[in-house]
Amino acid sequence: MLENVVEFFKNLPSKQCTECGEKIEEQSECYSNTCEKCNSL
Ligand SMILES: [Zn+2]
Repeated sequence: MLENVVEFFKNLPSKQCTECGEKIEEQSECYSNTCEKCNSL
C-alpha cells in the first residue's frame, strides 16, 4: 500500500513556474504554481 503511494508521487510530473517556466522543486507546504523567486516578488 505505502509503496504504491510512493510510486505515485515519484511519477508525478515536475511542476513548472507559470511565470518564468523554471522547474519548481518539491516543497512540503507550498503548492503554488510559481517558483520561489517569482513567489517573493
Ligand atoms: Zn518563476
